[in-house]
Amino acid sequence: IMSMEDYDYLFKIVLIGNAGVGKTCLVRRFTQGLFPPGQGATIGVDFMIKTVEINGEKVKVHPNHREVYKIWDTAGQERFRSITQSYYRSANALILTYDITCEDSFRCLPEWLKEIEQYANNQVVTILVGNKIDLADKREVLRLRAEDFAQAQSMLYLETSAKESDNVEKLFLDLACELIREA
Ligand code: GDP
Ligand code: MG
Repeated sequence: IMSMEDYDYLFKIVLIGNAGVGKTCLVRRFTQGLFPPGQGATIGVDFMIKTVEINGEKVKVHPNHREVYKIWDTAGQERFRSITQSYYRSANALILTYDITCEDSFRCLPEWLKEIEQYANNQVVTILVGNKIDLADKREVLRLRAEDFAQAQSMLYLETSAKESDNVEKLFLDLACELIREA
């Protein structure tokens, strides 16, 4: 447990999105610098009660201040009933993730937005993330389409690869910048 003196900013971030889009891999990549090999979609959790898989924490040292990222990776969804109200409520930021090679994960985004509208606090910063850009030849969702969707919903947009570590650091830094700007 850290006291206030240990940091200047504490960012509470919750990852949401369909199972299999790469939420766990994004968190592992950011917090541990790892891409777990051969890992399938999250399994072995109690679907009915388990909503929080890990508490990832990472401290990022900047020249002028210290930031702590506290990250909740959600698992075991039952698609739209996944997260309890309190996780949304306490989040400063949401990372809404889909998989660019999976049209279905993109088509579900409006359902996730409904959840956000219902449960998140209205100051929340949401970033839409299209993950798995290393699989460009399997892309099903055009970048422009996703950018348009994000813009229409006043969300930031970024494409990432947890596997290749592409834009993962940037994802969390962009969120932090936005949160500091709005604070
Ligand atoms: P979650 O259910 O959203 O937490 O998804 P996971 O992080 O468990 O990832 C689901 C599957 O997608 C796993 O087989 C991962 O290895 C794979 N995966 C995750 N991120 C990437 C990525 O950036 N590129 C590729 N090629 N595969 C990924
Ligand atoms: Mg997971």
